Amino acid sequence: MTTTAKELTVTAPSVPVRRRAAEVLAAFGGAPAVPRALRNLPWPVITDADRAAVTAVLDDHLVSNADGETAVSRLENRWAELCGTPACVAVSNGTTALSLALAALGIGPGDEVVVPALSFVASALAPLHQLAVPVFADIDPVSFTLDPDSVAAAITPRTAAILPVHLHGQPADMDRLGALAARHGLAVVEDAAQAHAATWRGRPVGQLGDAGSFSLQVTKNLPTCGEGGLVTFTDAAVGARARTVRQFGEVIEPGRDRDYLSHRLGWNHKMSSVQAAFTLSQLDRFPAYEAARQRHVAAFLDRLRSLPGLIPPGVVPGSTHAWHILRFRLDPAAAGLPGVTPGALRRAVHRLLQAEGVPMSRYQIRPLPEQPVFTDRVGFGGGVPWSYAAPAPTPPTPVTSAVIDDSLTLQKRHLHPDAGPALERYADAFEKVWANLPTVASMARAR
Ligand SMILES: *Cc1c(COP(=O)(O)O)cnc(C)c1O
Repeated sequence: MTTTAKELTVTAPSVPVRRRAAEVLAAFGGAPAVPRALRNLPWPVITDADRAAVTAVLDDHLVSNADGETAVSRLENRWAELCGTPACVAVSNGTTALSLALAALGIGPGDEVVVPALSFVASALAPLHQLAVPVFADIDPVSFTLDPDSVAAAITPRTAAILPVHLHGQPADMDRLGALAARHGLAVVEDAAQAHAATWRGRPVGQLGDAGSFSLQVTKNLPTCGEGGLVTFTDAAVGARARTVRQFGEVIEPGRDRDYLSHRLGWNHKMSSVQAAFTLSQLDRFPAYEAARQRHVAAFLDRLRSLPGLIPPGVVPGSTHAWHILRFRLDPAAAGLPGVTPGALRRAVHRLLQAEGVPMSRYQIRPLPEQPVFTDRVGFGGGVPWSYAAPAPTPPTPVTSAVIDDSLTLQKRHLHPDAGPALERYADAFEKVWANLPTVASMARAR
């Protein structure tokens, strides 16, 4: 099963900007651009097939270490096949997926793991769970993924791994990051929690490093009915070690009674059969949902590319994007609004688009290294694990700071396979706000 993701590039618009008389903005009493009827786009989409899959498992195997094929092993096999890897291990969530990957690769006390300054906090907590420490690198201003030059500057003799996050569904620059890892002998753990089935040079994420970590949390592109995660491994032996670490350090073999012997430090990171059955059922529709999303998002972004000062997300050439989150940057100078700061423009646009019925939001309100857990180094007490590695203080990550200040995101709604009509109205709303730029400017200047 392959997804046919249409490749988009950050090139010229294919649709000319619509001439639009300045309508009264909804924030000032006008009719909202997005009618209420188009505002209910639930995610995940749950069908009778999903319900049947979940109830069927109640009469089947409820434990994940049962002999023979289970929903969990079926899901692992299908995901390994999709990712083109010899091993996939199902786990309890996307955060345990990351720490299990690091554990199976032997990352531990004294090790540093290079992590992007823009991500969900779990990307940086996972190394701590292994008593390693995250060292933050800045991002690229266009792809929002790890900047390889910043990674190179962050590498020290203690660096053991790079953890590229395929943020919002855009694969990181795996050519340059892979080359850096090879030169310095580092492990690579892909955080693909937001990037199911995205590709880099024709290869799916999950097979581009030593391990690929996926989340099946309900808001992700491939959801379960709760919490779940998957880890792929490009080396079957590391995958086998991960299975042992997942279950109390035990070696579980089909056809052999469980012997309850722990051979190494392990956890209980197992996935439940109910979660696996739900995701297996979702996986049947995943390619169709993915194709619809590619179509709708491409049409939506095409309409927005000509609005001055609005920078819609693009796709790095040679890759495909899973469009988990759409991030729009705002440039006051390009919008013809000198003297307006990016943050003030972002706040004004946020308020106006929300009033029009476009559910804009922010994703991350500060760089990860500025989260208290990392500034105050709140770990296991006594300075652990930072005391093992003694990393230098984090240098500033100015691109991450700028992006957080000047951008807004669209989350979840566009994942729905019938989101097309709503996205057209969202585009109307952007055009309406841009037809009222003098109002936007006076709001931004008033703050
Ligand atoms: C969601 C997410 C995770 C964590 O996944 P959970 O299943 O919520 O534990 C990790 N990294 C990124 C980038 C994510 O978006």
